[in-house]
Amino acid sequence: MSRLLERDRGLVWHPYAALDGPAPYAVRAADGVQLDLEAGDGRRFTAIDAMSSWWCAIHGYRHPVLDAAVHAQVDRFSHVMFGGLTHEPAVRLAEELVRLTPEGLRHVFLADSGSVSVEVALKLAVQYQAATGRPGRRRFVALRGGYHGDTTGAMSVCDPVDGMHSLFPGLVSDQVFLPRPPAAVLADGTVADGSGVDDWITLAERTIATFADEVAAIVVEPVLQGAGGMFAYSPRCLTALRELADRHGLLLVADEIATGFGRTGARFGVDHAGVEPDVMCVGKALTGGYATLAAVVCRTRVAEAITRSPQRALLHGPTFMGNPLACSAAVASLSLLTPALEERVRGIGTELEAALAPAAGLASVKDVRVLGAVGVVQLDGPVDVQAVTRAALERGIWVRPFRDLVYTMPPYVCGPDEIAAIGAGIAGAVAEVHG
Ligand SMILES: *Cc1c(COP(=O)(O)O)cnc(C)c1O
Repeated sequence: MSRLLERDRGLVWHPYAALDGPAPYAVRAADGVQLDLEAGDGRRFTAIDAMSSWWCAIHGYRHPVLDAAVHAQVDRFSHVMFGGLTHEPAVRLAEELVRLTPEGLRHVFLADSGSVSVEVALKLAVQYQAATGRPGRRRFVALRGGYHGDTTGAMSVCDPVDGMHSLFPGLVSDQVFLPRPPAAVLADGTVADGSGVDDWITLAERTIATFADEVAAIVVEPVLQGAGGMFAYSPRCLTALRELADRHGLLLVADEIATGFGRTGARFGVDHAGVEPDVMCVGKALTGGYATLAAVVCRTRVAEAITRSPQRALLHGPTFMGNPLACSAAVASLSLLTPALEERVRGIGTELEAALAPAAGLASVKDVRVLGAVGVVQLDGPVDVQAVTRAALERGIWVRPFRDLVYTMPPYVCGPDEIAAIGAGIAGAVAEVHG
């Protein structure tokens, strides 16, 4: 196994990491909520995956229902092009997505990753505006602190500083940014408005009124900003953006790639504000982490405008669109999202609050917050990622901190003991490394 790490080094890029950066851990096996890992020095760790593999593996690894679905599809066919062809897994998945997403969302575009689904949503919005006689509307309103993916269109609506826009002049378009909305008040699984909401809404009104003639859509992560800082904001800000979108003829695009499918304790992030978007992007947990897949679901009004336009089509079509293996995994994963599982997510939230509470007393910790099955420990400075990762592994927990954040988005199948172990592992690792 340690030979694997030698072969990896200098050869394979890892996400946002130098080719000669710190060695990764080699995965020997993944089963249930456990990862079996080997470090460069040959040490082995069995750890609970507190990250759900970047928020995807909500049912854990080697789930019998998902395994069976993918095996069965391999025995039929693994891939066919989607141009001119269709198949049961794709149609079934689209039906399920329309059933699960808010009422008005009725038409589904299958994309190959979250970032690509954001690209498709941006193009959809520009095409919609052109189709309704407003071809000059090609920019987007987005929030500071947001994250929407790593392709260049998606990057343009990410936080301009964290997203390093200045490194890619000419490649990343200039968008209209609103300040990060005021923080939500989180307690006992509820999301309430914090202070400063009225001032923020006034500013949003003014900014959007100024730029409305150039803007096609407002693009937001509903209520919880994920990779941009694990930050929950006041739901009334989302309600206000819905109203402003209607007032100025903009589309509201909800990027639910991180928040979708129950993660925040509601089925979708928009549900915390009772808002229905015009376009929704879903990804990450869509396939239960079995394969890359995302989807863009939109309202009939939007789809009809495009159908009436000279192009008639949404102008996108990736090679692996609607991949049958990915769609089969997604159908199986969604079939497991029962009301009981949604209830379990809220239970995980309650358990996380208790399990992470001791971290709040540490000198290095600035904030501890929990929303649904998302638990966040924010430090007063940057995390020593290597040291905290190792200290957590010593406690049987796999985490991947970033910036000033050590957080968990555990698989929904974790039991109370596993959630307690995740909380203790995170608090213990932070205490050991940062005090
Ligand atoms: C992860 C993420 C994306 C990008 O998805 P990829 O599958 O990594 O391309 C976009 N938006 C949000 C909110 C995300 O969390």
